[in-house]
Amino acid sequence: MGRKTNPEYMNTVGRQYNQLMEHCKANLDKVENELPPAREELSETLKDGGVSRRDFIKWSSIMTATLMLPPMFKPMVARAAESFSRLPVVWLHLAECTGCSEALLRTSYPNIDDILLDTISLEYHETLMAAAGHQAEQNLEKAMHDFDGKFICVIEGAIPTGLDGKYLTLGANGKTGLELAKEVTSKAAATICIGSCSSFGNVQAAKPNPTDAKGISDALGIPTVNIAGCPPHPANFVGTLLHFLMFGGLPPVDSLGRPLWAYGKRIHDFCERRPHYDAGEFVEEWGDEPAKNGWCLYKMGCKGPYTFANCSKVRFNDGISWPVMAGHGCMGCTEPGFWDTMAPLEKPISEKTILANERTVDKLGVAALGATAAGIAIHAVASAVKGHKPDKE
Ligand code: SF4
Ligand code: SF4
Repeated sequence: MGRKTNPEYMNTVGRQYNQLMEHCKANLDKVENELPPAREELSETLKDGGVSRRDFIKWSSIMTATLMLPPMFKPMVARAAESFSRLPVVWLHLAECTGCSEALLRTSYPNIDDILLDTISLEYHETLMAAAGHQAEQNLEKAMHDFDGKFICVIEGAIPTGLDGKYLTLGANGKTGLELAKEVTSKAAATICIGSCSSFGNVQAAKPNPTDAKGISDALGIPTVNIAGCPPHPANFVGTLLHFLMFGGLPPVDSLGRPLWAYGKRIHDFCERRPHYDAGEFVEEWGDEPAKNGWCLYKMGCKGPYTFANCSKVRFNDGISWPVMAGHGCMGCTEPGFWDTMAPLEKPISEKTILANERTVDKLGVAALGATAAGIAIHAVASAVKGHKPDKE
């Protein structure tokens, strides 16, 4: 008898999910009692955005599955979404291009993830807030005071650590990015790194890295949840905040701090071109017949076999497409140091690896990425309820 048909095993799983459900309800009660009321009714905001109740229910189902929770959690996901605007957020910009904010918060054709992000209670966001200079500093002080230990610190951008952080100074008081990040993260309930710059340093840390730029966890020696990507997918950020609202903690992460539900599998594992890879059918040059027929892009530099992310499942532009579907290989943007390690972006990492041999490429993928754990068990989800800091698998 298989494990999934063993009644004893199924009873244990059922009990654990029921416990998790009770914990989730208690946590949402706490959120609704302790955090400031929602600034606006979500139903009204969605209506203004042209989203029907039916669309919202469909989205709740998809988000529940994306978070790798069983369907019984759908009402909890919807309830957490209704409390989304209660969660106070302080959003810091360090060494970066603001592309993550642009991609996440300023989309022209918003879907429900984007609309939810628009409702976030942004207590401080250097790009979007109206205040400037000393008034902006006061806003930050006030947010840290009013929501001490309760706000989420979101960081976009790497920290230049050379010259004691002096390559980057911010605000009217001229604090270094290093000082500011230390101060704000020490008062936050949790720190979420949005994008590959704050997660791993990214282009700022590419060779020769003259400012000694680093990701936040590396620079400050603190645990962070890393929503990697250049830019990251909005669903991965929204899902992480929903998890925090539902379970009072951040989700289980891999060895690189990335939520397992979003980054637990490789691009290659769910790619629609994968049958062509397995059959040894590759695009050989841009625009050739195999390219028109949607064959595998590995020989054109696709880094899908080495890259852990859910792009092929969540897709971009309201779920319409994703880079490989559009005809270009994955560049590996969710991996640390991808500018250096995945270059040249339109060539395979090594000509030697062009083999229609699953074992060879799988071995390379594993070797390139170290011990990233895949697969999520119920105990991993349950472990997230223990505290605000993420659990590493
Ligand atoms: S190598 Fe790239 S295009 Fe080919 S199957 Fe893997 S992810 Fe898809
Ligand atoms: S397909 Fe690859 S390069 Fe493109 S966003 Fe996803 S992980 Fe990044």
